[in-house]
Amino acid sequence: MLVPADLHIHSCLSPCADDDMTPFNLVNMAALAGIKILAVTDHNCAKNLPACKAAADAAGVALLPGIEATTREEAHILCYFPDVDAALAFGESLRGRLGSAPNVPRLFGNQIIMDENDGVIGHEDRLLIQATSLSVDAMAALCVDHGGMPVPAHINRGSSGLLNALGFLPGTRFAAVEVCRDLPITASLGGYNELHSSDAHRLEALAGPAQHLELDEVSAESAFNMLSRWYQERA
Ligand SMILES: [Zn+2]
Ligand SMILES: [Zn+2]
Repeated sequence: MLVPADLHIHSCLSPCADDDMTPFNLVNMAALAGIKILAVTDHNCAKNLPACKAAADAAGVALLPGIEATTREEAHILCYFPDVDAALAFGESLRGRLGSAPNVPRLFGNQIIMDENDGVIGHEDRLLIQATSLSVDAMAALCVDHGGMPVPAHINRGSSGLLNALGFLPGTRFAAVEVCRDLPITASLGGYNELHSSDAHRLEALAGPAQHLELDEVSAESAFNMLSRWYQERA
């Protein structure tokens, strides 16, 4: 079946996202927009995923846990996980490799950690939109070590898109590539399957499904299995 999905959404934990991208708000806005499977992928941190999972369960939509990780080349790699605990463990590994600059909320925005009732339970003090010390290869390997599936984000957009950052797709094995439909592509995609997502940082960006995925059922597991299958096919 074709399942309406959006596999790249930021919560209020990402400093560049609006403060009203709370777990409850973003999940329910996505549900209203007809999205059945969503991935919340904050920059280099998974701490809002437990609340997003609870909100998704309550709203009857599926949450695929993710993180948008920054490599030392400043490329963005989406890392998807089979469950929230695996994403949290990966987030902890990333934390040790993230630059040490603190967040300055008035410059970069708030990094709000919430519970499942949209109560504020803390603020992340380390600036989450800085690079880690990991190369693209090492990031993909760390993701897979944690049971995850790596997908370079918006490869044809901005300096943090892998294709733009490097000028080519490296030999690193990924599960898929995320492509911005509206922007030109300057190099071969190497036969990769494509993801199309909103990369929403504000509620208004959740206007409808960014992609329909061919899945066996509406579940995060089936979306993760799709990525795993694509990854296996690249062997
Ligand atoms: Zn990005
Ligand atoms: Zn993003």
